Amino acid sequence: MSNKISKIAVLTSGGDAPGMNAAIRSVVRTGLYYGLEVYGVIRGFSGMVEDDIRLMESTSVANIIQRGGTILKSARCKAFFTPEGREQAYNNLKKRGIEGLVVIGGDGSFTGGLKLSTEFDLPVIGLPGTIDKDLYGTDFTIGFDTAVNTAVDAIDKIRDTADAHDRLFIVEVMGRHAGYIALYSGIATGAENILIPEAETNIDDIIAALSEKEKRKKLVNLIVVAEGDEFGGASEVAKVVKEKLPNMDTRVSILGHMQRGGSPTCVDRILASRMGFHAIECLLQGRKNVMVGIKDDKIAYTPLEIAIREKDKINDEWLRMVKILAS
Ligand code: ATP
Repeated sequence: MSNKISKIAVLTSGGDAPGMNAAIRSVVRTGLYYGLEVYGVIRGFSGMVEDDIRLMESTSVANIIQRGGTILKSARCKAFFTPEGREQAYNNLKKRGIEGLVVIGGDGSFTGGLKLSTEFDLPVIGLPGTIDKDLYGTDFTIGFDTAVNTAVDAIDKIRDTADAHDRLFIVEVMGRHAGYIALYSGIATGAENILIPEAETNIDDIIAALSEKEKRKKLVNLIVVAEGDEFGGASEVAKVVKEKLPNMDTRVSILGHMQRGGSPTCVDRILASRMGFHAIECLLQGRKNVMVGIKDDKIAYTPLEIAIREKDKINDEWLRMVKILAS
């Protein structure tokens, strides 16, 4: 393996996702194995601008693979949107001789990384770290599996109480622009309806189905809503249901930030470990500005600009299946 670079940095940026620590560990340990000096940037691009950059050792990443959150911390950094901010950030890398960067985050973080790379000719490798699974070029993102399992666990519990009281529960899960958490958790918990930004929400159809179920005395119902659904989230759906079906015992539950936390699942730990390992191999092979993804269980590289710009379409077959299984 050609080894033109000798110093690299890694950071986590944007919304945190379980499995980011496993990815940091993999980047650091693989980098050290190949004789690189590896730096950790604290609080994403903020730490780069503010010069909070620390040399990492093997022990810096000991005992973290099972922990949620990120030991490097994450942040959203306004200064990085400006050319001056990015120049200051780059100078802090340059003075340490850092020649490559691994960015673990979502599309915003990749956009920032790509700008830095274009402006200062610095190779950047992106690892998809987001619970939303909204990046093109990968079947899964780091944190998605854990977030979905957390949602499934919570919704199963909600169904128990819904059943005890014959209630309709409208559960909101995360996903501002992508409905994958709602889709997966809704299917896995047998939800009667799943509302996602990628599919039109026909509230009249939902009311008609609920009303018909009310007549059949099927009183337990579960609707899973992605926060970014065009209808406006669980509370808005509940308002309409209460207005049209006042006798239905309707409750709302918003799962919120619990979906980001917790110990990563085995799937996320392995995904993050594989991706971190390949990020270093990419830099050593002279690749730049690609996202390391996973396609059909094989590592796949996608140019960052495509990973950011393109969107995966939810297969119509999934939506058809949801309808059939809920009937
Ligand atoms: P998530 O998917 O969880 O929201 P993300 O990586 O998309 O994660 P953002 O908040 O969009 O999170 O972006 C994280 C940071 O990346 C921003 O705070 C900013 O520092 C940098 N960034 C985002 N977009 C740009 C941009 N257009 N130019 C420069 N920097 C950017």
